[in-house]
Amino acid sequence: MKKEKISKIFEILELNNPNSNIELDYVNDYTLLVAVILSAQSTDKGVNKATKTLFDIVKSPKDMVNLGEDGLKQYIKSIGLFNSKAKNIIEMSKKLIRDFDGKIPSSLEDLMSLDGVGRKTANVVLNSAFGKAAIGVDTHVLRLSNRLGLCDTKNVLHAEQQLMRILPDKWAKKANQLLVLHGRYVCTARNPKCNECKIRDYCDFYTKIT
Ligand code: SF4
Repeated sequence: MKKEKISKIFEILELNNPNSNIELDYVNDYTLLVAVILSAQSTDKGVNKATKTLFDIVKSPKDMVNLGEDGLKQYIKSIGLFNSKAKNIIEMSKKLIRDFDGKIPSSLEDLMSLDGVGRKTANVVLNSAFGKAAIGVDTHVLRLSNRLGLCDTKNVLHAEQQLMRILPDKWAKKANQLLVLHGRYVCTARNPKCNECKIRDYCDFYTKIT
């Protein structure tokens, strides 16, 4: 796809999502990482409900280790996979204290060395906390990118690589969240709202069905 067409897609997406911030609530880089770990296979809304009171008392890895695994579970038990997520978050927090002076590292490799942090989570943190050009390919990003014709693979790593290769510099930092929001609210999995979609003139999927 030509750069001009890609830029047009993101210009329209930005126009329609002027506040394209991540929808997870957090108070600093550490709580952002915790929220992203908790959001795996869970809704942002459900995570925000659980972290509303958690982040009143936990704002750092030290706070989290002091709360402990059982204590953490009491706050996040409404979230799917809460047992394994609690275990990972405690181990991740201990490692941050031990190896990173309690701070969130800013490289993909270091982030991925933490318990419970996969490539998607690491990229979301790099993008939202450090403002780096990075794409966390989740189900929305993967579906929408394939329908638009920005990538042509169901493999998340290949999709990330294809997107990073074709995205114009101007959009490389903003693309992640704009794709997530459009995929979540317009280009939905079962019934994409093509008739009200503002980027349909640039979409391969729409061209094929009309
Ligand atoms: S036209 Fe339809 S398939 Fe294409 S991006 Fe919009 S909602 Fe998704």
